[in-house]
Amino acid sequence: MTKAVYPGSFDPVTLGHLDIITRAAKVVDELVIGVLVNSKKSPLFSMEERIEMLKETTAHLPNVSVQAFEGMTIDFARQNGANVIIRGLRAITDFESEMQIAQINHSLDNNIDTMFFTTSLEYAFLSSTVVKEVAYYNSDISKFVPKAVEEKVKSKFNNINS
Ligand code: ADP
Repeated sequence: MTKAVYPGSFDPVTLGHLDIITRAAKVVDELVIGVLVNSKKSPLFSMEERIEMLKETTAHLPNVSVQAFEGMTIDFARQNGANVIIRGLRAITDFESEMQIAQINHSLDNNIDTMFFTTSLEYAFLSSTVVKEVAYYNSDISKFVPKAVEEKVKSKFNNINS
C-alpha cells in the first residue's frame, strides 16, 4: 500500500495545488495533505481556515485527508506511516530547492521517497502569493482558485482594505 503526504503552506489552496492533489490521489492509495505551521511566515489565513478550505475543496476525493503539522516533513511522513512525499514542480526555479530538500529527506530516511508532479501548463506560474497579490488589487482571481476559496480571499481583503 502506498501512503503519501503532500506538505505545503496552502495559504490559500490554489487550482495548481488541487491539480497536483487530484493527480496524486489517483496513483497512491492514501494521501494526507499536511498544512505547515510555519513560524517564519505570517500567513494570511489561519491554520483552521487553510484546513477548512482544503477539506471543502477535496471532499469529493475519498482517499484524501488534511492535517496540520509542525517541524520536519520527514517526521510528519513517519508519523503517518507514509512512504512517499508528494511535491509539485513549476518553473525551473522550483527545481534546485526541491532537489535539495528531496536529497536531504532521502538521506534522513531512505524508506521514504519524494514523488514529483510537474505542473499542468495552465498553472505553471500560479502560486498562493500571486493569488494574494492579484486579490489585494481587487482583480479577478477566479482562474486561479476554486469558487469557495475565491469568496474567502475576497472577504479577507475587503476586511483588510476597509
Ligand atoms: P511551500 O511553502 O512548501 O512551497 P506551497 O503551498 O506554496 O508550500 O506549495 C506546496 C507544494 O505545491 C510545493 O511542492 C509547490 O511546488 C507545489 N505547487 C504550488 N503551486 C503549484 C502549481 N501551480 N503547480 C504545481 N505545483 C504547485
